Amino acid sequence: MNAGILNRVDELIYTETETPSINESELLVRVKAASICGTDLRIYHGKKTKGVRYPSIIGHEFAGEIAEAGAQVSAFKEGDRICVDPVLPCGGCFYCLNGMENVCQNRVAIGYEYDGCFAEYVRIPAKFITQGNIQQLPPDMSFAAGALAEPLSCVINGQRKLDITVGDTVVIVGAGPIGIMHMMVAKASGASTVIVSEPNAMRRNTAANFGADITVDPISESLRDTVLTQTNGLGADVVILAIGNPKIVNDALSVARKGGRISMFAGFSAGETPPVDVNLIHYNELVVVGASALQRRDQKTAVSLIASSAVAVERLVTDTYPLEEIREAFSKAESGDAIKVVLVP
Ligand SMILES: [Zn+2]
Ligand SMILES: [Zn+2]
Repeated sequence: MNAGILNRVDELIYTETETPSINESELLVRVKAASICGTDLRIYHGKKTKGVRYPSIIGHEFAGEIAEAGAQVSAFKEGDRICVDPVLPCGGCFYCLNGMENVCQNRVAIGYEYDGCFAEYVRIPAKFITQGNIQQLPPDMSFAAGALAEPLSCVINGQRKLDITVGDTVVIVGAGPIGIMHMMVAKASGASTVIVSEPNAMRRNTAANFGADITVDPISESLRDTVLTQTNGLGADVVILAIGNPKIVNDALSVARKGGRISMFAGFSAGETPPVDVNLIHYNELVVVGASALQRRDQKTAVSLIASSAVAVERLVTDTYPLEEIREAFSKAESGDAIKVVLVP
């Protein structure tokens, strides 16, 4: 088969490699759509290395059809259209036993410990099948939408900790694909006002087109003034940092109301340790939460939200490339001119 192979940091090559072979308990999936995640870009440039092997095939957001099912696999058959939750929790560690399987101490993932989806085929090890990581796509759901169920699941996992409720004012910092998905899920949860801050005009317009109530260009406008005007001087109920930019952490903390909830949703590049005005948290009694990956239940929720049209993820795809143009696709994803970039083998 052909695949994009990450040989080392900054060296990604489209080349021929061996098609994975499966045993009787495994599946072979023909990739139909594989989207590029911000994390893939950080892996490419060596800014994220945990679980990454060289050489290997990265990529963890995908959907496809089953090309081959092992004889012992009864839940799926050749031709099934599926999407995959790429994170496999161990099931037995402290976190798995306490409702936090997404931060399992022994978690392994497709695109990290197992070869990923920037390839024509992906081998699905048995545990992914038996533990509920594989999901059938509804008949009218596209493969691209199925691939985007993965990042949407991460957004759902992040928002579970924020308890967004009817009437909330939510500020989202960053209108990349993740920021826009946060906006859509916040709306679906009943947020009455979603304010999106984004310096890139194309992304800001996209957020507006997808239903942001107010968009702010933080270069020329004050996010804080806008939020205070909208909330009778109180501040936002919820603030979600959907971009890992060290310069905006304090700005994000400063637009929350007292008792507001803040999600540090975006990962920062290794070594970036922005100064934090701790008094904003202390005196305002802010609740600051993190978010890592997804739980298996989130993927089920994501697929049903997409199927019900509550969250229109597919419209986020601005660019589609054949797999052989993987480097061009990565450049496009990094350029800021795209929202979501999808590779099709
Ligand atoms: Zn991702
Ligand atoms: Zn575990």
